[in-house]
Amino acid sequence: MASWGKRRTPRPPRSPIYADPQHHANKKHWQAARLPCARCRGWIDYGGPATLTTRTGRKVQNPRRLVVGHIIAVDIARRHGWTMQQINALTNTQPECQNCSNRSGGQARVRKVQSAALVRKAVANTSRAW
Ligand SMILES: [Zn+2]
Repeated sequence: MASWGKRRTPRPPRSPIYADPQHHANKKHWQAARLPCARCRGWIDYGGPATLTTRTGRKVQNPRRLVVGHIIAVDIARRHGWTMQQINALTNTQPECQNCSNRSGGQARVRKVQSAALVRKAVANTSRAW
């Protein structure tokens, strides 16, 4: 992913949700279903590449690429005590285009949760030092 250009923040470690074999089975299912994006109803570039190269040679995300989205967001489902099987159940996923997935902020939400946890940890460390 070094070709993705400059990132101001390091990419957070991928959630184990995406390493689950069920996640790949879901992707295969939606890949075969060829439905439009569940959020914007726009077309999805099912056969297309993950990245596109601009005229200046820069690599950018293919905005119409298929992303398997979660209907109940992963962090919310976790907070409610869902198991990985429940979170990654086919019925909790939907096909989304990369654009909508970015907007819904799956990764952004992960980042927010992680930074909140870091803040809590920092506060805890400080109070222990007193
Ligand atoms: Zn969309």
